[in-house]
Parts: sequence; C-alpha cells; structure tokens
Amino acid sequence: MDLVGWHFRRAVVTGGAGFLGSHLCEELIARGTSVICVDNLCTGTERNLAGLRSDPRFEFVAHDIARDAYHVDDVDLVVHLASPASPVDYSRMPLETLRAGSSGTQHALELAERNGARFLLASTSEVYGDPLRHPQSEDYWGNVDPVGPRAVYDEAKRYAEALTSAYGRHRGVATRIARVFNSFGPRMRPDDGRVVSTFVRQALRDEAITVHGDGNQTRSLCYVDDTVRGLLAVAAGDRPTPVNIGRPGEIPVRGLAELVRSLAGSRSPIEHVAAAAGEPRRRCPDITVAISELGWRPEVGVVEGLRRTMEWFTADAASGQRRVRA
Ligand code: NAD
Ligand code: UDP
Repeated sequence: MDLVGWHFRRAVVTGGAGFLGSHLCEELIARGTSVICVDNLCTGTERNLAGLRSDPRFEFVAHDIARDAYHVDDVDLVVHLASPASPVDYSRMPLETLRAGSSGTQHALELAERNGARFLLASTSEVYGDPLRHPQSEDYWGNVDPVGPRAVYDEAKRYAEALTSAYGRHRGVATRIARVFNSFGPRMRPDDGRVVSTFVRQALRDEAITVHGDGNQTRSLCYVDDTVRGLLAVAAGDRPTPVNIGRPGEIPVRGLAELVRSLAGSRSPIEHVAAAAGEPRRRCPDITVAISELGWRPEVGVVEGLRRTMEWFTADAASGQRRVRA
C-alpha cells in the first residue's frame, strides 16, 4: 500500500525492541526513514534488532522513557509503543505499566512537541474493556473496571489517549492514536503468555494446550505485517481521533486451539484450565474508519499468519536464537 503524504525523515520509536516495535523499525527503514529506537528491554530484546544493527540509519538507545525524558533534535515522527503489553507481563510489572502509559507517554509527547514532530500513540482494544457493543467502533466509550486485574494496562492506555488528545488540542502537536487489536507473528516471546505464542509453543512440543475457561471467549487476530502497515497508515493519515487497527473475524479461543493443533500436526491434548479473571468475553474491531479514511485493511488471513508464525517459532527453537526476519 502506498502511503499518501508519507514524508517522515527521522523517527523515534519507543519500545522498538519489542514484538511490534522491531517490525515497525524495519518497515520505517525500508521506507527510507531513519530510526532511533528507545527501549529499556524490560520485555523486548536486542536480538529482535539483529537485522538493523549494522544499518547506519538505525540507532538503539537503552533508556527508560517512563523514568526520564529523552532529548534528541531533528526528528519528525515519534511513535510511542513502550509498555508491557501481554497480560502476563503487565501483571508482573503493574507499576511500570502505569508509568509507561502515564510518564512514558508524557515524555514521548514532550519530545514530539519540542521537535514539532508528528506523534503516534499505540493504544489498544483494551480501552473498550469487556465491551457491551459488537463490533467495537471508535465512538464506543468502553466498559472498563478501573480497579480490576487488567486496570493497570487498560486505564494507563485510556489516560495515554486522554493525554495525547490534550497535547493535540491544547499544545499544537499533530497527534494520532491507533487502537491496536490482538496481533501475532514472528518475534512474540514463546513465554509471553499471549494466546498465539502459548498455543504455538505448546502444539510444537506436543504439550497440553491450555484453554482458559470454557474457551468460548473470542478474539480477532491480526498478523503483524498488517498491524505495522496499519500503524504507519494512521501515522501518515489526517485523523487526530483514534482509529481501530485489527482484523475483523472473531475466533473462539477453543477453536483457535484446535486450529493451531491441526496446522502443527500436533498430538497435544486440549486442556481447560481456570478462566482468567476480569477478561473480555468478546472482541472484534469495526475497521470502517481505517478502510474508508486511510485505505488500510488487513491482507493476511489467520491460517496463513499462523503458518508463518509457526515456521518462525520452529526455526527460532532450532537455532537457539531469534531469526532476523520472518
Ligand atoms: P512488547 O512487550 O513486545 O514490546 C514493548 C516494548 O516496550 C519492549 O521492547 C519493552 O522493553 C519496551 N518498554 C516497555 N516499557 C518501557 C519503558 N518504560 N521505556 C522504554 N521501553 C519500554 O509488546 P508489543 O506486543 O510489541 O506491544 C507494543 C505496543 O503495542 C504496546 O504499547 C502495546 O500496548 C501495544 N499493543 C500491542 C498489541 C499486540 O497484540 N501486540 C495489541 C494492542 C496494543
Ligand atoms: N488464553 C488461553 N490460554 C492461554 C493464554 C491465553 O486460553 O494460555 C486466552 C485468554 O484467556 C484470552 C485469549 O486467550 O481469552 C487472549 O489472551 P491474550 O493474553 O493473548 O490477549 P488478551 O486477553 O489481552 O486479549
């Protein structure tokens, strides 16, 4: 997809050593943008950046964006991805997650303001909480428990959206917000606890596939390459208010377990374990805005995405270290 109005020369990507961030850094470089990746490696790894380290247009800076401001001149795009993102990670790092969404977003916005740069926040479908409306469109305000087990992540992102909007309205920063739905693909950590990485790891080892609860809860899964194109479409687009980036098509978690097992040719039993507390029962994006205003839509189906993901997990396990590119 050609991005009309694409003109970014030098970008800062916070959280660029993570799953989505490393793919985004690669895509930016491929489109001719120099990239400074700012990451404290709390859930990311420099191995994800192996393919970029020798590129003169790429720079890695070890820095905690939630703790200290980050100063650099001459950037025209700031993308704020830095935050623990899997439920296992944010439950392990609750205060760090709140800080990444609050002070981290503030510092990233200050960087954009000083540079007169465009700012893109990677928000999440979690702002919709356990939604009472299906599918979720951007004008739905959500159903979030502010003191529940997911609150550290959900409310941090809701605050981050409010802060971003305030910088847009009152400080003249050109702000953009992408509400990213569940994404998957190469470079997910096998132990990150997310559903695709966990099921793929278990299936490839013929271990029991652990379905939480009855498995009737649904998610809509988007392949990483599509998500990254979506983020860039939001960044390059004109819309200051949030845009859903996800792949419509709900799949029940039990059905996903069966699909992964079958694609892997695995002998794994499917085991129902305790349900996760406070989690959404259904989630599905309405992407009318992304299609009509940005010309973006996902292109990779779930089966094809799972095949590519499994191929990468297999190669990763065989090599003992991360492969550079899927
Ligand atoms: P990830 O954990 O792989 O990447 C997050 C990166 O941020 C890591 O490299 C981590 O080390 C870094 N980081 C965290 N706190 C930091 C801090 N204080 N300072 C500097 N770096 C810090 O997660 P991901 O899946 O790549 O998610 C990236 C972003 O996209 C997150 O903001 C997440 O909320 C959002 N998102 C992701 C998904 C998804 O399905 N992957 C869905 C919705 C939203
Ligand atoms: N899930 C599961 N088994 C696992 C990991 C996750 O059944 O080993 C379920 C989880 O309870 C949720 C769905 O899969 O219903 C998606 O979980 P994930 O952590 O990937 O994302 P999120 O809940 O944040 O959407």
